[in-house]
Amino acid sequence: MLRDTPTQGSSKESLNPFEIAQAQLDGAAEILQLEPEMHAFLRQPMREFRFTIPVRMDSGRSRVFQGFRVQYNDARGPGKGGIRFHPDETIDTVRALAAWMTWKTAVVNIPLGGAKGGIICDPRLLSQSELERLSRGYMRAIVRFVGITKDVPAPDVYTNPQIMAWMMDEYRVLVGHHEPGVITGKPLELGGSAGRSDATARGGIYTVRETASVLGLDLKGATAAIQGFGNAGQFAHKLAVELLGQVVIAVSDSRGGIIDKDGLDFDAVVAHKAKTGSVIDFPSAQNISNAELLELDVVVLYPSALENVITAENAANIKAKIVAELANGPTTPAADEILYRNGVYVIPDFLCNAGGVTVSYFEMVQNSYQYYWEEKLAHSRLDQKMTKAFYDVHRMAEAKKVNNRVAAYLVSVERVAQAVRLRGWI
Ligand code: NAD
Repeated sequence: MLRDTPTQGSSKESLNPFEIAQAQLDGAAEILQLEPEMHAFLRQPMREFRFTIPVRMDSGRSRVFQGFRVQYNDARGPGKGGIRFHPDETIDTVRALAAWMTWKTAVVNIPLGGAKGGIICDPRLLSQSELERLSRGYMRAIVRFVGITKDVPAPDVYTNPQIMAWMMDEYRVLVGHHEPGVITGKPLELGGSAGRSDATARGGIYTVRETASVLGLDLKGATAAIQGFGNAGQFAHKLAVELLGQVVIAVSDSRGGIIDKDGLDFDAVVAHKAKTGSVIDFPSAQNISNAELLELDVVVLYPSALENVITAENAANIKAKIVAELANGPTTPAADEILYRNGVYVIPDFLCNAGGVTVSYFEMVQNSYQYYWEEKLAHSRLDQKMTKAFYDVHRMAEAKKVNNRVAAYLVSVERVAQAVRLRGWI
C-alpha cells in the first residue's frame, strides 16, 4: 500500500513537505494578489503517476517496488526534475519536490517546467544488477510520459550518472532510436555535459559569493559546515575551499558528522568515506551529531542532505550568518520566520541549488545539436544564470521587505502564472 506522508497535529508544525510547499505558495499568492483560479491551479500538480515495478532479485525471487512521477507544471516548457531512490520516499515528498522544480526553473529563467520522480527503495541494500533492473523497470513504467518535449528526468538523492545511463539506454530500446536528451546527468561518454557533476554545488557557491558581496563579508578563511556528503555536499566542500577560500570545519552524512576546528582536508575525507562508507571516525576529527553540526558557530552553513532539518525547534540556535540551502526543503516555514528575525541570510533552496538543473538544461541543449561545450563555457554560463537569479531575488526581497524565500517565490510564481495566462489556460 502507498502511504501518504502523515500530517502532524495542528498544534505542531507540519513537516509534510507538500503542505509546506503549498503554504509557501499561499504566502506568495497573497502578496502577488494572484487570481483565485490561478492560485488554485498552481497549488496542485497537473499530472501524477504511481506504478509498481516488479524486479527479479539475484535470489531468483521477485520484489515489487513502488514508483512515482509527478509533472507539476509545464506551462514554461517540458517538465524537468530528478529521480530519488529513498526508503522514506512518499508521494507528498515527490509532489513537493516537483513544485520546487517548477519554481526553480522559473527563478533561473530556463524554458522548462517542474517535475520529480522517485522509487521507495534503499539502493544501498541492492546489488548493481538489481539496481540496473530496477532503473530499467522505472523507465519502462514512465516511457510514455517522458521525452525531450514532455518531461526530462535527472539524478537526485541516491541516483547517479550510471543509473541515468541505464535509463537512457532502456528508453532507446523501447522507442527504437537514440534520444540522449531524454535524461540528464548522464556520464560524459554518453552525452553528459561538462560541468554537470559539480553544478549544483558550484551554482550554490556562486550565490554565496554574491551574498558575501551584498553583506560586505570577506569569505577568505571564513568557516563552513556542511550537512550531507553526497553529490551536493562533497562538491560544496571542494568548491567552498577552492573558489571562496573557506575553511570547512564540519561535514556529515546519514551516519553522523565530524568536526576539526583547523579545517577538514577534502581529499582525505573523501578517501576515508570511500574506505569506511562514512565520514565518521575520521582520524584527527571529533565525531558530532547531525543536529550539533547545524548549530555550529560558522559563517556559512550548507544543509545538503534532506528536508526539514531546520525547524521551529532549532532555528533559534542557528549561528551561521548565511544558510546556503543546497538541499531541497531543509527549512520549515516557522524556522524561516525565526531565521529572518535573527538576521540570518538564507539563500533559499530553489535558488541556491538551481545550478544542477541549469547545467542539465545546458546538457539538453548540447544533446539537441550534438555539439559539446568546454567546461569553461559551462561554468561561465552557469555563473551568469545564477548571478542574475540571485540579484532578481535579492532586489525583490529588498523592494518588498520580505525574506529571500518569499522573494524567490514572488519572482518565480509571477513568471509561471504569466506563462499560464499567455497560454490561455486561466
Ligand atoms: P546524494 O545521494 O549524492 O547524497 C545525499 C547525502 O546525504 C549522503 O551523503 C547521505 O549520507 C546524506 N544523508 C542522507 N540522510 C541523511 C541524514 N538524515 N542526515 C545527514 N545526512 C544524510 O544526494 P545529492 O544529490 O547530494 O542530494 C542532496 C540534496 O541536494 C537533496 O535535497 C537533493 O534534492 C538536493 N539537490 C541535489 C541536486 C543534484 O544535482 N544532485 C540538485 C538540486 C538539489
